[in-house]
Amino acid sequence: MAAVEAVDPTPSPTLEDTPVNFPDMTPTPNLMAAVTPIPVSGNGSDLLRFVFPTPAPKPISAWRPPLYEAPWAPTRFDHFFFTRPISADEINWPLPNYRYGAPWPDLPDVIHTGIDIEAPEGAPIYAAAPGKVIWTGYGLQGLQENQNDPYGMAVLIQHDFGYEGRRLQTVYAHMSEISVIYGQWVDTSTQLGLVGNTGFTTGPHLHFEVRLSENGWYTTRNPELWLAPPEGWGVMVGQIMGNDALPIPLHPITVVSLEADQKWNMLTYGGSPSIKADRYYYENFVLSDLPAGKYLVEIPYGDKLIEKEIEIFPGRVSYFSMQGDRKFDINPSPKIPASFWESVLSNGTGDVETNTP
Ligand SMILES: [Zn+2]
Repeated sequence: MAAVEAVDPTPSPTLEDTPVNFPDMTPTPNLMAAVTPIPVSGNGSDLLRFVFPTPAPKPISAWRPPLYEAPWAPTRFDHFFFTRPISADEINWPLPNYRYGAPWPDLPDVIHTGIDIEAPEGAPIYAAAPGKVIWTGYGLQGLQENQNDPYGMAVLIQHDFGYEGRRLQTVYAHMSEISVIYGQWVDTSTQLGLVGNTGFTTGPHLHFEVRLSENGWYTTRNPELWLAPPEGWGVMVGQIMGNDALPIPLHPITVVSLEADQKWNMLTYGGSPSIKADRYYYENFVLSDLPAGKYLVEIPYGDKLIEKEIEIFPGRVSYFSMQGDRKFDINPSPKIPASFWESVLSNGTGDVETNTP
């Protein structure tokens, strides 16, 4: 699989505490009245070509199931509110080796704040849910009209719904063409534009972010906890800590299917103010799009290899917590005080940060 990761945008220290130049979020009545949502069919096919997240295993199936209809929330802790921004007849799942929280290979302090979807140049990009376009064009990182902005040409949507009293936004970056305008209301699957190679990239792809914030600025969350899974498939979520009960950044974790010849080599989230854990799970590891079934999780710790079996259920999150070689809980109650995790895994509730597309 060709590498299509975004190139390190090297966040400028001067941007760290500076709000993004957001446009005015007040709707413009004339503009709104002039805009008619464009109906676009987003799902041309029920079945997808199956591509494995790591190149090592051989495919056992040429197909993927269709997605659960968003919003998908089988429990009150779930929030799979978004459909995929790339249609079902293209690859529409995260590039496996550069997920949310992953470091840029040569710069471990530069952490990815979204997922990359390896779609070809010119593939249509669709809105992941209804909302209003509150940014189009260059400059999303903070420099309006700046063609060197790492996001390139981007669209930002503020959704018609939020979560736990916070605004929900999605970002679509590196586009070659934008087909919506500022202030336009878009429905799920309204076409926003085309996949491109603008901004800091090494090849055409879509960079997609989910932002959850109180004040309209942004804090990101892992999109793999927000995108509806394929039917019959589930999501693995983990909290990987040391014996001191602190999360371990960039710690290796291997997930092996016990039913198919598949293996995923992952890292826990890197430490960065831009990376935020879910307020229920306080995770530092997510692996979505797993067919239901049994998996073996292998995590080195000291001179030991912690090995545990995790079962994935259709449409559900399977959650585990590891505390070094002392404790491994596959049915934990994630009641660790939020303030503790936020201080460790992120910079707390501050809503203004520099992102890494
Ligand atoms: Zn990216």
